[in-house]
Amino acid sequence: MNRTDDAGRTDVRADVLVVGAGPAGLALAARLARAGAGRVQVLERDQEPGGMPRHLHHGGFGRPAPPRLRGPAYARRSVRAALAAGAVLRTGITATGWAGPLRLETTGPAGLERITARAVVLATGARERPRSARLVPGSRPQGVLTTGELFQAVHAHGLPVGRRAVVVGAEPVARHAAATLRQAGTDVAAMLTEHPRGTAVPGIALLTGTTVGELRGRDRLTGVTIHHRDGRTGLIACDTVVFTGDWIPEHELARRGGVPLDPGTRGPRVDDSFRTALPGVFAVGNALHGIERAATAAAEGAAAAAPVLAHLAGAPWPESGPPVQVRAPLVWMTPNRITGTARRPLLLRSAEAVTAPVVTVTQDGRPLWRRRFPLVASPSRSLRLPPHWTARVDPAGGPVVVALA
Ligand SMILES: Cc1cc2nc3c(=O)[nH]c(=O)nc-3n(C[C@H](O)[C@H](O)[C@H](O)COP(=O)(O)OP(=O)(O)OC[C@H]3O[C@@H](n4cnc5c(N)ncnc54)[C@H](O)[C@@H]3O)c2cc1C
Repeated sequence: MNRTDDAGRTDVRADVLVVGAGPAGLALAARLARAGAGRVQVLERDQEPGGMPRHLHHGGFGRPAPPRLRGPAYARRSVRAALAAGAVLRTGITATGWAGPLRLETTGPAGLERITARAVVLATGARERPRSARLVPGSRPQGVLTTGELFQAVHAHGLPVGRRAVVVGAEPVARHAAATLRQAGTDVAAMLTEHPRGTAVPGIALLTGTTVGELRGRDRLTGVTIHHRDGRTGLIACDTVVFTGDWIPEHELARRGGVPLDPGTRGPRVDDSFRTALPGVFAVGNALHGIERAATAAAEGAAAAAPVLAHLAGAPWPESGPPVQVRAPLVWMTPNRITGTARRPLLLRSAEAVTAPVVTVTQDGRPLWRRRFPLVASPSRSLRLPPHWTARVDPAGGPVVVALA
């Protein structure tokens, strides 16, 4: 039975508490509930479960084989699977902090709660970095949007956006922003990226090596000044600018709980079994690395079920393991700690576009693995390293160093 203390906080118990009902949290909850993990509760701060795909109305979700689903249909399918397996989904409930190592404080329609679990999984997704973080000078007139704000305005509220827009970013998320603008009847004047390459969209000018200098306009945006790498500057007249693509893990809850973060991903540092440095606390999905495909997030969630079950059954929590260090232009790899032989591909991200990159992995100067990838490593798409070489990592050795030859 639940108890309520003098401060009005009700104590609740669960076997596994998953924070976040996006593709990662739902896939994990479905697996765990099906495997008989006991009371599997999923908390979701939104009023509806399903995570980011609920707001993404283009097709392209699910396994690579057709038919690909639209985001909302994919979200509904993930929710149905978790419920059918026996997981409990609780919406409108935000995990706000920690009352102990495996005890979370929450707020929601039922009031304040303190939920104690035997395992906690952070599946909190990613968030878009606000414009201020990009240090673009100028006032903040109307018409300056993040992708999230654009999707909310168009898909959730059906609001008009503007007549002429510039999209800052030229990776897959930016392409969706441009499509959404066009759907809302807005002409897209240009997409721009600081990088030497970007994803072109037919009928839209792609300006590479270009940054936004200043936002013009007082009440409403009237234009953006742009700077090209070669020193040229210009002004694009527009009443809307959408800043896209700067996504980082939603790590606030992890930070509050003292879960160590990886400096590259800025998500919880995890090993190949999704274990953070805090015993009993796991992390999966975009909470680990920013935006990947929903299928990747869901696959991570599903793969975390086995280690969570092992933890519930009393498996020891590894004290440590060699950390992963990446060398520029690489920015991160996940997992970022090696404590055993990995069974899934490791994700590696570069800050710059590199054609046919040769990736090397060493430990204490000892080569562990090397391969040339016949594609471009890009800031918006991860390379997938096969897991077999992790068997050669010396658990007592120094950092595992990943670099480009
Ligand atoms: C513009 C855009 C287009 C995309 N297009 C595609 C595509 O075509 N195909 C594809 O496969 N993928 C696409 N993606 C990526 C896909 O949406 C994500 O990879 C996927 O949603 C990640 O799942 P997740 O469970 O890790 O996180 P999310 O889906 O973000 O879910 C995390 C959930 O946690 C909740 N939460 C966070 N903190 C708390 C808290 N403290 N308490 C309670 N709840 C909390 C959030 O409300 C959220 O619902 C796209 C992404 C974007 C931004």
